[in-house]
Amino acid sequence: MQNSQSLTTVLFTNKDYKNLKIIKIIDGTSVDGPGLRTSIYFSGCSHHCPGCQNPQTWDIDFGNKVDIEEVLNTIIDNDFDVTFSGGDPLFQVEEVTLLAKKIKDIGKNIWCYTGYTYEQIATDSRLSQILPYIDVLVDGRFDLNLRDISLRFRGSANQRLIDVRKSRPEKIVIWED
Ligand code: SF4
Repeated sequence: MQNSQSLTTVLFTNKDYKNLKIIKIIDGTSVDGPGLRTSIYFSGCSHHCPGCQNPQTWDIDFGNKVDIEEVLNTIIDNDFDVTFSGGDPLFQVEEVTLLAKKIKDIGKNIWCYTGYTYEQIATDSRLSQILPYIDVLVDGRFDLNLRDISLRFRGSANQRLIDVRKSRPEKIVIWED
């Protein structure tokens, strides 16, 4: 395991210092992607899906302000791959993209849950900034009518596990274990 303090001192400059709004960080979960992962639950969501299990997360003021360096230190200390969840991580896409870049610099795999579809993200100049740093996108709003508890890593059948590295808007490639 690397020494987080010295590594982040190298990775960050003052202009990188930005705050994230985070509800919680779970160290070593196995339900948000393959293997043990550090899952980060970000505040804020504008999708308001009927049946959402955590409507309190829609509010950007639900949770705590945490600086990116502190989150990265936790990820380095845990030494797991990473999942972004929420809320919708893309609600804070500028700050979350900055964190994602830093996570890729230390060689970790990133899964990202979002209520947007891959096609919406890929064709939106603001949202698409995060795609180069995401390995698997679990996309689409939760649909109560398509809820299926037997599905792996997703809540409703419309949501897809997209292999972002291999996909483009006209050809989606589904992630395979
Ligand atoms: S995208 Fe997720 S957090 Fe947002 S309303 Fe839908 S289920 Fe809830």
